[in-house]
Amino acid sequence: MDTILAFLNLFAYFYVGYLIIKFVFFRRQRQKVCAWCGSKKIKFINGVPGQYFWEYRNKDGSRDKRVTGNYQQASYKSEYRCKSCHAKTGFNHFINKRPSKKVKICDRYLLEKGDGDRTHENWSDPKGVHVNARSANRKGG
Ligand SMILES: [Zn+2]
Repeated sequence: MDTILAFLNLFAYFYVGYLIIKFVFFRRQRQKVCAWCGSKKIKFINGVPGQYFWEYRNKDGSRDKRVTGNYQQASYKSEYRCKSCHAKTGFNHFINKRPSKKVKICDRYLLEKGDGDRTHENWSDPKGVHVNARSANRKGG
């Protein structure tokens, strides 16, 4: 009996974990929709990484050589075409060591109008921080 209970307990933990992962994934994808009609059926057109910058850098943007494990990162901009209304939507993606269209988005904005009336809006993640790559970021101040 105890083993069955222990097993059920374990199963419950796994299930809760699964739900959390699913929720996080769903949230992550939720804003990646057409900025004109809100459709999820959008097709990737193109994307470019922004300017790379060092995580720890000097005032002029050059690498802070005192820091071991210092790395470069960049934002990413992508453009998508809606299959429903044919509008073009642009996304800004969070800064990442490997910038790509797979990185979580922080902004959604309309680039070209679609068919019919607009029913959806632009969006920005309130947590989205815009890093000033030109200002110094020195480890330990
Ligand atoms: Zn659309």
